Amino acid sequence: METTENTPGSPTGGDRSGGRTLATEAVHAGREDLAALGLHATPLDLSTTYPSHDSRAEAARLDAFAATGAQLDGPPVYARLDNPTVARFEQALARLEGTESAVAFASGMAALTATLLVRVSAGLRHVVAVRPLYGCSDHLLSAGLLGTEVTWVEPADVAGAIRPETGLVMVESPANPTLAEVDQRALARDCGPVPLLVDNTFATPVLQRPADSGARVVLHSATKYLGGHGDVLGGVVACDEEYARQLRQVRFATGGVLHPLAGYLLLRGLSTLPTRVRAQSATAAELVRRLRADPRVSRVHYPELGGAMIAFEVIGDPHEVIAGVRLITPAVSLGSVDSLIQHPGSISHRVLPEENRHAGGISPRLLRMSVGLEDANDLWNDLDSALSGQASARTPAEPVARSEAA
Ligand SMILES: *Cc1c(COP(=O)(O)O)cnc(C)c1O
Repeated sequence: METTENTPGSPTGGDRSGGRTLATEAVHAGREDLAALGLHATPLDLSTTYPSHDSRAEAARLDAFAATGAQLDGPPVYARLDNPTVARFEQALARLEGTESAVAFASGMAALTATLLVRVSAGLRHVVAVRPLYGCSDHLLSAGLLGTEVTWVEPADVAGAIRPETGLVMVESPANPTLAEVDQRALARDCGPVPLLVDNTFATPVLQRPADSGARVVLHSATKYLGGHGDVLGGVVACDEEYARQLRQVRFATGGVLHPLAGYLLLRGLSTLPTRVRAQSATAAELVRRLRADPRVSRVHYPELGGAMIAFEVIGDPHEVIAGVRLITPAVSLGSVDSLIQHPGSISHRVLPEENRHAGGISPRLLRMSVGLEDANDLWNDLDSALSGQASARTPAEPVARSEAA
């Protein structure tokens, strides 16, 4: 088979994909049975409950779920346990990440909460983590809301920080918001038997598959690239079936389920994920090239891996750049088809005390931009004038006229 794949870690999609490439999996995984059902689009099942006259059989199936956490055999019982539309998204994401299973949640934070609760409930409440992390992930660990105790370390010091009661090692790579990367294979070795959680929200399985490097748990804020259109909130954990069973039991008990409509939208989002991420990454690389040559910018952060997220430190006032953009939307979040820019010190990482932002290398002059599918020159023109602090001289209608003239 001819392949156009050129990204590391994803040339075949792994054993479970029967040798298909990621681009093919993205549009077919989780939908293989549709033709036999006489359908083309994915059915959306909004039922909260399901009828059954056989309560003995339902009791047996509920007992089996309580004992194992395995997905229910047969028809669903109640939407907090199981939903067929969400299950399709989970199956597809597991295939893209090259893991046995995946479990979806209401948000990225609900997914992280369940991942931590699995370990805390087993008496393993110590977490070793590497900064920076997404602001709320750092906050969740630092505040100890779930009964965890965290030790923050540099990647090279992970092995030495592990204790008998360590339940998890957590890292983001590339990290939010500085795009710092770690050697995941080396880190996985240092973790020994302790599960390594890699938050893969920024890279997506298009650019890297952490499970191939030894991560046992791969987390996504599906709100970002997986959904891809800024209109769905969700989270998902890709992992082995043993961990997935525990996650399903925690999800059932704590209720952070993904809504079926969100599952539908996320599955649809996956079909364009490889195309979006490659196109957005190419534009991001071009903007990075121009920012690196720009005297108004003191430092540009961009991962070796590539990707569609860029971060840069400005010599002037970062708030003026936010005030000055007209095409790029000044908003938190990322991964959408349109470009967003935000000031981590004010928004995404605001929940952290200043010293924790400092420890994560998050400068007060840092701006984080999520590069969308717009034309690179249009984006550059907007950044260029925002960097020049021309905000007050322009009206919101002006960039439209400019792009029509271009
Ligand atoms: C946004 C984000 C989260 C949290 O996800 P939500 O869907 O907003 O709950 C976690 N990790 C990273 C890297 C993120 O960017």
